[in-house]
Amino acid sequence: MKSKRRLQTTFDIISIGYELLDGRILNTNAKWLAEQISGLGGKVCRIIAVGDEVGEISSVIKDSFRRKIDWVITTGGLGPTYDDVTLQGVAKAVGRKLVLNKRALEMVRKKYLELFEKGIVDSPELTPHRMKMAMLPRGAKPLENEVGSAPGVLLKFKKTRIVCLPGVPNELENIFEKRVKPLLERSVKKIHTADRWLLIKGVPESTLAPKIDDVRSRFPTVYVKSHPRREEGESIINLYMRIIAQNPRICRETLDKVEKIITELAEELGGVVSRLEGAPR
Ligand code: ATP
Ligand code: MG
Repeated sequence: MKSKRRLQTTFDIISIGYELLDGRILNTNAKWLAEQISGLGGKVCRIIAVGDEVGEISSVIKDSFRRKIDWVITTGGLGPTYDDVTLQGVAKAVGRKLVLNKRALEMVRKKYLELFEKGIVDSPELTPHRMKMAMLPRGAKPLENEVGSAPGVLLKFKKTRIVCLPGVPNELENIFEKRVKPLLERSVKKIHTADRWLLIKGVPESTLAPKIDDVRSRFPTVYVKSHPRREEGESIINLYMRIIAQNPRICRETLDKVEKIITELAEELGGVVSRLEGAPR
């Protein structure tokens, strides 16, 4: 069977923390990430919130693996406290142990030394709680956190890349912008989009609908939406078409084909079709 290649690089965003589930805080991290990812041409397939619970975290990540998502981005639960269990959940999902990561430990050590020198903490000592932030799933890479203490984490599992970011918004944004965005700029598939509006007079939407369904099944990369109204007893449809493709030429040629087919179909039904310049007012 021919495997279906996706046009866009896919992402799941998994936000972790009971404070999201009981309404204490709004999930602004997911919104911010979704905007960033969409802006880079990626497709966010799901935004999920789960509590600080190892089994829940591992089960949603495994579901992303099952759906062959390209990138899983988790937020929250990387801190030093007992309830920060994100990496335990990730380790469980990938079937690896948490091990002390030397580079992560160096990052944490440097951070607490700086905080000690600034008088923010009383000792630079690497306590078990501080060392916890350097316990990463085997094979993971730490991502430097210039703002806070817990490093982010990057891990590859089969074809999926997992990125774990802290919950504190400015820490998450710093790691994403400095360490993750450059990777995404290199690896997210480049996509192009184009759209077009047609004006169809004299065909009721319900008559055109089955024909449009046929066209949509023949051209699955084209999104078609009809906006009907009646003017002085006549059916008027503003038909919107949008395509995502690898290059502008495919966008144009495919939209030309779809426009031609829809025009012929509507004319056979007694309609009059014209192309609109831009969106209808
Ligand atoms: P820390 O080291 O501070 O514990 P962490 O990675 O463990 O970092 P969390 O404990 O999950 O992060 O969250 C820390 C704080 O960040 C929360 O109290 C909340 O104010 C904010 N935060 C967490 N998740 C989100 C989110 N999804 N959207 C917006 N803010 C969030
Ligand atoms: Mg925390």
